[in-house]
Parts: sequence; structure tokens; C-alpha cells
Amino acid sequence: MKILKFGGASVKDAQGIKNLTKVLEVTGTQKTLIVVSAMGKTTNSLEKVVNNYFNAKHKLQSSIQEIKKYHNEILLDLFNNDSELIFKKISKLFDELITFFEINKSPDYDFIYDQTVIFGELVSTSIVSYYLNNIGLKNNWLDARKVIKTDKNYRNAKVIWEDTQEKIKYGLKSQKLIVTQGFIGSDSNNFSTTLGREGSDYSAAIFAYCLNAKEVYVWKDVEGVLNADPRYFENTTLLKTLSYEEAIELSYYGATVIHPKTLQPLQRKEIPLHVKSFLKPKDVGTKISKGLKLNPEVPCYILRKNQVLISLSSLDFSYIVEENISHIFKLLHFYKMKVNLIQNSAISFSVCIEDPYRKLSELILKLKSKYNVSIHKNVSIFTIRNYSSYSIGEIEKNKTVLIKQITQKTVQIVTRTINK
Ligand code: ADP
Ligand code: ASP
Ligand code: MG
Repeated sequence: MKILKFGGASVKDAQGIKNLTKVLEVTGTQKTLIVVSAMGKTTNSLEKVVNNYFNAKHKLQSSIQEIKKYHNEILLDLFNNDSELIFKKISKLFDELITFFEINKSPDYDFIYDQTVIFGELVSTSIVSYYLNNIGLKNNWLDARKVIKTDKNYRNAKVIWEDTQEKIKYGLKSQKLIVTQGFIGSDSNNFSTTLGREGSDYSAAIFAYCLNAKEVYVWKDVEGVLNADPRYFENTTLLKTLSYEEAIELSYYGATVIHPKTLQPLQRKEIPLHVKSFLKPKDVGTKISKGLKLNPEVPCYILRKNQVLISLSSLDFSYIVEENISHIFKLLHFYKMKVNLIQNSAISFSVCIEDPYRKLSELILKLKSKYNVSIHKNVSIFTIRNYSSYSIGEIEKNKTVLIKQITQKTVQIVTRTINK
């Protein structure tokens, strides 16, 4: 079995879906499971729908219709007339979403978020599956929620591996080509859950793990894993091979080309991961596998933007000890902050965080009752793996360095300004 994963960028329009079939010509379709994300930026648009439900009800219907229109246009590009059954099927999915909002009684934002955003993947995979069948690539559409079982931690659900393993093992026997969704699952009450934004790579790994797949291919809008994100760095180099460990490190520090949870399940079963370009499917791309090393051995740069640097010192200039640190971390955990870097000295403690749930002001208020607090908003963390003194110099050029941490393999530099 092999697992292929197509992200939003690869299926953002009809051309993309046609291109997907070109990729399948290269990979073949025997014993293949295809994981597909929501098309283009659909998940972002569905997030707006959720916000409208809570904060601007008058915009709710029009925001849903806009997403429906986007998919209808793709359908019209793929099929010449709207008598194809798929038009009805997609329309029904949007009706389901509208009905959900009509009957929903829950006030829980995260729950409603998950019941909503899953429609992006349901719609995209329905379209891809129908199109492939239509051109003769016979496949079965699988509702991933039937097999990926999770806890009830909506928006960031944890996979329940035993249940999922069981369901995949018995639910997917003897099928040749399967089209399914990334990112989504369901809880014990069969309510929809999601695995965290950008989680489709992880879904591919979950299927691979449970099916003992031979290989996983994720198809991207870049040649493979590069030594830096080409959106922020010039002259990037393709990393032809990587060890699991190095790939885990890169994604941990913020290389968003692979979702951070993807690699562990693959490493456990030693399943190789290929990261390749959906536009050049015959090119080598990146292979991550047992026994491979970083090649070429170049410095790898990772940029995390929009960080908040908080520096704390005790009000009476006493030492910052275990008790303080434990209290600070309890607060960070409570307000769901993502901690990306910490630094402490005798009387101060600094932490670089992301605030995905916009709880910063509440956190600061709490911290101020116990500490002197200084805040730098909108700072960046540059991480260089496999650094050289030249690469550090390049990063520090024209920037105010607020913190610098160096270990044997990694340097992290917190800066105030970004060049680009
Ligand atoms: P998907 O379509 O599967 O969701 P993503 O958009 O999440 O794909 O990942 C591809 C993007 O990741 C690229 O367009 C690139 O901007 C970004 N990226 C970040 N770091 C790297 C890196 N080290 N190498 C390649 N791409 C990277
Ligand atoms: N569609 C989801 C997102 O945009 C999952 C994914 O694409 O990986 O976050
Ligand atoms: Mg993505």
C-alpha cells in the first residue's frame, strides 16, 4: 500500500485536480490511498463562517454561499454541464452545513468550529473522487471520520490509536484505490473532530502507520524540503535526503512544509516519506527514511514570525526559582500559549510565545500581579540548524538581536526586525 497526500494548494482549481491525475500516472494507482485537503484556502473561509455564526449572523449565509460558488465554478470547469450527479451531492453537503447551524444548540466555539470546517475536506474529496471515477480511475470515497477515532478535544483532537487501527484494518480491506480526507476524524459520539490546522500530512501518516504502508508521498508546491522557506529566503537548496530525526527537528522549530506530528508514526514503522512537487512529479524531491542523512549538509533556516517575547523578573528582585517557573508554565498552559523558546537567569525569565487563541492580555494581567513584565510584540525567531558563523552573520545583519541561544547543532536568534 502507498499513501499519497495532496494539500490545498495542489487542488485549488480544476487545473489542479486534472494535474492530480498526471501525478497518478507517475505513481500508479494500485493499492493506493489518496488523502486530499480542502481546496485552496477553503479552511480559512470556513473559519470566517464560524466567526460569522458567532459575531455577524447577517453574514453567515452569504459566507457559506461564497464557498459553495467557488466549488461550483471548479465543478463547471471540470464537467461541461451541471447535470452531473456531483453538483447535487455538493449542494447537499452545503445544505447539511446550513442545517447544522439551524439546529445547533451548543455554545462551544471549538465544537462548532469542527462541525463546520470538516465540510472543506468532505467537499474536496467528493469532487476529486467523482472526477477520477468519471475519467475511468475507479475509486472508493471513504469518510475518514468512520475510521480516524479521536478524543473530544475539538480543534486539536488526539488520535485514539487502538480504535483507529482496528477501524482502518477492518474498514479498508481489499480496496484498490481509495480517496479520503486529511485533517478530520470523529469522537466516541461520532461528532466530527479535527487534528489541528495543516493536519492532513499527519492523517497520511496515520493511515500509513495503520496500513503498514510501504511509502508515503506528500505533494507540495515546492520541489521538496528546502533548506529554508522560499517565501522568506532567497537561493534555497533542495535537501535530497534527511533522517527522521533531522526532519522532526526542522518541523519542530517551525519548517511548515511538514506538519510536526507527521514523522513520529512513520519513524516508528520505518516508512519512508517523500516530499515532492506536484508540478514536477518525476523530479526526485526529498526522501526521509531510516539510514539517510542530511544531504547536502547545508545550514537550514527556519523563521517563526509574529512571536511575543515576554520577560519577567520578580517584584522584589529575588531569584526566579522552580516555584515561579512552575507557576508561569501553568499560566502559559492555561491560556493555551505555544512556547517556542525560553531563557532564564538568576532574576529573570524570558519566554517567546505564540498566541493562537488571542489570550495575551489576560495572561499579561495575571503575570503582572506577581512579576515585573516587559513585552516585545511582533518579534521573530530565526533558527539555524547545522549553522556556520557565516550563516549566523547573515541572519543578524540589520537586525536588533534580543536573545541568542547556541547549542551544538542549533542556533536560535530572537530579533525585532525582519528584513523581508
Ligand atoms: P500543503 O499544500 O500540503 O498544505 P503547505 O503549504 O503546508 O502544503 O507546505 C508547502 C509550503 O511550505 C511551501 O509553499 C513553502 O512556502 C513552505 N515551507 C516552509 N518551510 C519550507 C521548507 N523548509 N522547504 C520547503 N517549503 C517550505
Ligand atoms: N484543510 C486543513 C487546513 O487548511 C488541513 C490541511 O490542509 O492540512 O488546515
Ligand atoms: Mg497546508
